Amino acid sequence: MIKYNLICECGKSFESWFSNSLEYEKLKKRNFINCIHCNSPSVKKSIMAPNLPVKSNKDKKKKLVEKNIKKQLINFRRYIEKNCKDVGDNFPQEARNIHYDKKSSKGIYGKATPEETAELIEEGIEVSTVPWIKKSEN
Ligand SMILES: [Zn+2]
Repeated sequence: MIKYNLICECGKSFESWFSNSLEYEKLKKRNFINCIHCNSPSVKKSIMAPNLPVKSNKDKKKKLVEKNIKKQLINFRRYIEKNCKDVGDNFPQEARNIHYDKKSSKGIYGKATPEETAELIEEGIEVSTVPWIKKSEN
């Protein structure tokens, strides 16, 4: 089986399957191939497309979704950087200070190992782990 993208004189295109290119030529000669939109026999092959476009379309969509997620994560990162204080490796300590002393209501962000994060959560300190995306990655 072979798939052809056919384009009609009406300007619209559609896909059609043929058992092989010879079958297409035969049908074409007899004007048996008609536009699905206007029924005109004045159609011609545009691009030969054996299965591939479907896959690349999917890939494109997947890439687009990934790009959107990345964009959201970058925006999220920007938001945190703008509204919270970077305490770097001191994060677990700073988080405790805020939790126990209630000195500052300002959010903080920084680094913590999974163990440190688990300890904080155990202590009832509200922390969330966010995927930290590099802004240069595009
Ligand atoms: Zn047409």
